[in-house]
Amino acid sequence: MSINDNASLDTSRMGGGGGRTGGRGPMLAGGGGALGLVVAVILVLTGNGDVLTSGGDGQPTAGGDDRLTHKCRTGADAAQDRECLMVLGENSLHDFWSSQPDLARDLSEAGADFRGPRQVVVYRGRTQSQCGTASNQIGPFYCPLDESIFIDTDFFDLMERRLGAEDGTLAELYVLAHEYGHHVENVYGVLEEAQKDPQGPSSGAVRVELMADCFAGMWIRGATRTTDAEGRPLLTDVTEADVRNAMGAAKAVGDDEIQKKSGGGVDPEAWTHGSARARQAWLLRGMGAESITACDTFAVAEPNAV
Ligand SMILES: [Zn+2]
Repeated sequence: MSINDNASLDTSRMGGGGGRTGGRGPMLAGGGGALGLVVAVILVLTGNGDVLTSGGDGQPTAGGDDRLTHKCRTGADAAQDRECLMVLGENSLHDFWSSQPDLARDLSEAGADFRGPRQVVVYRGRTQSQCGTASNQIGPFYCPLDESIFIDTDFFDLMERRLGAEDGTLAELYVLAHEYGHHVENVYGVLEEAQKDPQGPSSGAVRVELMADCFAGMWIRGATRTTDAEGRPLLTDVTEADVRNAMGAAKAVGDDEIQKKSGGGVDPEAWTHGSARARQAWLLRGMGAESITACDTFAVAEPNAV
């Protein structure tokens, strides 16, 4: 994964306060490790995790994150600092999705323009969203109520320990791109299908999740063409090894993998995100997609069989 050291970063859409709310959650205080990851992954990617919708009193801190603005100025910062990598990822995703002609056309037919997430909040420990208080027991998630993405960077340590990836950069950006995919779905109006039909191998939830993986793949394909405000590329190279790491992450969060790791049998009726094979298949499909319609998981009879 090659980051352009000279690219300038824009922190104006990053949420504030996340990194200062402190306190490592009880999960990680317990020691992390392989079991910790499994539990974290289960919490993140089943039930209410990943897309949170229940209301809470929390409000994200408005007005940018001074801490990130101070330390994340260039691509070189992103290459050295995981939080700054999330800034670069947000910049790249914003540029990519703001310039998708078929998305713009579909939205304009509906009388709307593309809008990015209101905030991308990078946090450790705990944070507030309109979907309630989140801690790193939940991990990365999207909250449609405040149209914001919440990324817990502690989750990446667990994920990479599990993956054994030497360079987890694209695996981390895949997680961000997947959550961004939920925002694109929200703008499109398909995210709500997950709540209407929350479980099972061909459920709305699984289709919504696999679509987010496909959208992440679309971004990976276009990532090296995204630029900063001055037109400098943000990312200059995505290697096969990077893609393997992202595919490894997609596999690790497959429902069947999680069920196996948690010691139970594989029960497709309990799936909320899709099988490991399907998550990889849709990510790969996105990497080859010419158009957003290639990611229409609602157009196939069995999204897990793709
Ligand atoms: Zn998701």
